Amino acid sequence: MKDAHMLLKAARFAAEKHRDQRRKDSFASPYINHPLQVAETLAVLGGVEDALLLAAALLHDTVEDTGTHPAEIEIEFGAEVLSIVLEVTDDKSLPKAERKRLQVENAPHKSHRAKLLKLADKICNVGDILRSPPADWSIQRRQEYLLWTEQVVAGLRGTHPDLECRYDELLAEGKRALGL
Ligand code: NDP
Ligand code: ZN
Repeated sequence: MKDAHMLLKAARFAAEKHRDQRRKDSFASPYINHPLQVAETLAVLGGVEDALLLAAALLHDTVEDTGTHPAEIEIEFGAEVLSIVLEVTDDKSLPKAERKRLQVENAPHKSHRAKLLKLADKICNVGDILRSPPADWSIQRRQEYLLWTEQVVAGLRGTHPDLECRYDELLAEGKRALGL
């Protein structure tokens, strides 16, 4: 499949899968905005031209959040894209605190592609916490979220200087804004 075809197909596939989901911000933005932004961050800020990684970015929350079966992704996009998606998919059968702990523990052992994707995901989520946070989150919950991402990103360092630098800028801005 041509790269452009695969990326458009991945965007459409993700849009269909996330069609009933909203982000947690006060406007309840369409969920698809987030994977689109993660893929754009990788391409524009990260200079990533690897179409398999960009497709995985578009699809990165489908298995975790929409009940998409991994086999669907393998059939439509191939085993390499699926393996990146699975590397960034939390096991929802585990309690939330355990999932959060495992993200910190496992980050250093991820593949290069999964580390890039996780960096872009955390950049976008910290940006959301700053500019369009979940409507009902207290300052303390936002603070705890930022500090948790900092622990995850500590395990992703040495992967991409520009992405890490952007994360650091947003984290510093967030810490100032939230009084940390
Ligand atoms: P959640 O995992 O519940 O929510 C954060 C996730 O929601 C993000 O990682 C992102 O994931 C997604 N998301 C959707 N919309 C937005 C948005 N507008 N802005 C940011 N993220 C969005 O959060 P946590 O449980 O981690 O809560 C943060 C901290 O608060 C924790 O450290 C916890 O200790 C504490 N806390 C938790 C409570 C709870 O009930 N869980 C209650 C009180 C405090 P994705 O990329 O997958 O979209
Ligand atoms: Zn995400």
